[in-house]
Amino acid sequence: VTASAPRALVVGAGPAGLIAAETLATAGARVTVHDAMPAPARKFLMAGRGGLNLTHSEPLDRFLGRYGEGGGRVADAVRETPPATVIAWAEGLGQETFVGSSGRVFPRAMKASPLLRAWLARLDGLGVTLVARSRFVGWDEAGAARFQSAEGRESRETPDALVLALGGASWPRLGSDGAWVETLAREGVPIAPLVASNCAAAVDWNPQGVARHLGEPIKGVAVSIDGATARGDVTATRAGLEGGPVYALGPRLRAALARDGQARLWLDFRPDMTHAALAAKLRAGRPDGTTTTRLKAARLTPAQIAFMRDGHGKTLPVDADALARAVKATPVPVTGMAGLARAISTAGGVRCDALDERLMLKARPGVFLAGEMLDWDAPTGGHLLQACFATGIRAAQGALARLGLPLTAPRGRS
Ligand SMILES: Cc1cc2nc3c(=O)[nH]c(=O)nc-3n(C[C@H](O)[C@H](O)[C@H](O)COP(=O)(O)OP(=O)(O)OC[C@H]3O[C@@H](n4cnc5c(N)ncnc54)[C@H](O)[C@@H]3O)c2cc1C
Repeated sequence: VTASAPRALVVGAGPAGLIAAETLATAGARVTVHDAMPAPARKFLMAGRGGLNLTHSEPLDRFLGRYGEGGGRVADAVRETPPATVIAWAEGLGQETFVGSSGRVFPRAMKASPLLRAWLARLDGLGVTLVARSRFVGWDEAGAARFQSAEGRESRETPDALVLALGGASWPRLGSDGAWVETLAREGVPIAPLVASNCAAAVDWNPQGVARHLGEPIKGVAVSIDGATARGDVTATRAGLEGGPVYALGPRLRAALARDGQARLWLDFRPDMTHAALAAKLRAGRPDGTTTTRLKAARLTPAQIAFMRDGHGKTLPVDADALARAVKATPVPVTGMAGLARAISTAGGVRCDALDERLMLKARPGVFLAGEMLDWDAPTGGHLLQACFATGIRAAQGALARLGLPLTAPRGRS
């Protein structure tokens, strides 16, 4: 990197900001990354606690469909930087990956820290400077970007290109607190309200019923609402009902709650069995036994039976047909969505029409946006990080085009 090279500034040292920094520096820009936190990528490290689901191995068309109706810009970016590129990049950083049984892709290390360490070393080698405890607070009248240090000292920067990757607003104690909404709204940037996504459905558990089974996984259940079904494992927690199927149905659940003020999720504890087969099994088990012994004989767990008792009223039907119906459709009344504080991601953000196709802010030419601060939503499964990497690269390439530098991509396996 030469002293005369164009200067690019990235704000936000999460996955979107760091991959943007790598892309810019690889092309020869002088890059500085500012972050409000004392250390980079706190949320990325937290994602590593769950194994760091980097991306997914499903066919690209299905993958792109996960970003829903409003996700066109993100889907375009993922088409350009598909899962294979992210996998090659992670492996280039010494992190061998594998495909889990659900098709999700993880690093063998099942955590983020070794990947982050290698990544930060690579960035250092590319001359990228990290400035911690530096909060972006907007622009002055002359167009300089304003930063505040933790001690309240103010500084101004006038880079040749600026990439903002400030994240959503979930888990605010890890850094992304959504305070940028006010900053960008002042500039007239259209922003869809930030709401919790991939979060628990809030449920008032019966203290004598399901509340006695908090944390026990309910495996292989089918969850339905308004004609849509998702399968997987769910868990009752203090926050409500959590797990992949609940997250996947989040948009529908939010719509039902907005429409009716309350909603019901329906659980099918035996999705692979027809009603008739299940009724026959319940009948055959212990014809003279109590309902509970018959349910246990059909291998329903105490937690599942607690869901059934709470959902259907304490006295479950004696008749095997009716009991089978109850096993295959247990209602869970939902009072709302759990808050942003513990949500895995944020829906809403800077609206697509605020950006051009290179993710540049129309209101501020030369400013590019990436990651979760954009208005898209996706279920868990690696689609979140994949979108952050892909939009980070796209935003950086937009900046490179503006700076007249070659459009490089981050390094893959060598
Ligand atoms: C518990 C948990 C588990 C997860 N697991 C997975 C998973 O397995 N797979 C997956 O795909 N996704 C997962 N995610 C989601 C994923 O971590 C996020 O989608 C991703 O980190 C978003 O990246 P980002 O770069 O857009 O923002 P962030 O990672 O949120 O980074 C934004 C950065 O910007 C900084 N910042 C914010 N405002 C300012 C400002 N004004 N000035 C300066 N700096 C600022 C913040 O300090 C932060 O470092 C998980 C999330 C959580 C909470």
